[in-house]
Amino acid sequence: MLKGKTALVTGSTSGIGLATARALAADGANIMLNGFGDKDAIEKERAGLEKEFGIKASYSAADMSKPGEIAEMVAATEKQFGALDVLVNNAGIQFVANIEDFPVERWDAIIAINLSSSFHTIRAAMPGMKARKWGRIVNIASAHGLVASAQKVAYVAAKHGIVGLTKVVAIEAANAGVTCNAICPGWVLTPLVQKQIDDRAKASGKSVREEEIALLSEKQPMHQFTKPENIGALTVFLASDAAASITGSAYSIDGGWVAQ
Ligand code: NAD
Repeated sequence: MLKGKTALVTGSTSGIGLATARALAADGANIMLNGFGDKDAIEKERAGLEKEFGIKASYSAADMSKPGEIAEMVAATEKQFGALDVLVNNAGIQFVANIEDFPVERWDAIIAINLSSSFHTIRAAMPGMKARKWGRIVNIASAHGLVASAQKVAYVAAKHGIVGLTKVVAIEAANAGVTCNAICPGWVLTPLVQKQIDDRAKASGKSVREEEIALLSEKQPMHQFTKPENIGALTVFLASDAAASITGSAYSIDGGWVAQ
């Protein structure tokens, strides 16, 4: 379906981003990877995508907290592949503390990476999408884009911001062939969440498995994790022709979290 199109997935060296890049590649898209990690492991992943799916893949080390590097990454994608057709804003970090203990530097980093980076990628990618009269923007928000939890002031503010940004972009691009949607996952077992489980186990003295079950059951009626591949599949659907009139939506994929 996406053969001949190019997708840029921010934060695609791990977790949801990597699974989404793989799903888009499996559907035929060329891929620009981005994110931090071991150089050799990233190169293995990049070459593996080309070999497994017969597409072209490249990698940008741009730091999503740096607007200049983001602009360069979008320009490099358009230069290397001739276009940027599918933009997935996925890079994200987490930090957990009560507001009075929340380090200012962590607030700034989370707002920059989880929110402002999407403003910077979209403003750079939109002119090309509008000129080609085709584009798909998928912002990986969170259940925390729709409801809150204690100790996540920066994350919840950023994710609510992403849901709002999604709506504005959708309205502005509604008649330009460009859609913009948000995906709001519940718990997905990735390194970002594993760290929260490990920290809880360390603090409580309980086992990792006990804390895993506790974490799920505090928020989700369904006591199982969403798989990163499930987010990839939803992204591929939102990039498809079948989804051409879906725009400005916030899609929950959360085991019933926000239904309560
Ligand atoms: P992860 O830690 O596995 O992956 C995060 C990715 O972002 C990595 O590739 C990392 O290198 C990259 N990254 C971090 N800082 C960056 C920076 N400054 N510049 C460039 N890349 C950077 O996390 P994940 O769980 O896969 O999360 C991906 C997205 O999904 C995040 O936006 C997160 O908020 C969201 N999300 C995750 C869950 C979950 O349960 N895991 C739930 C809802 C939403």
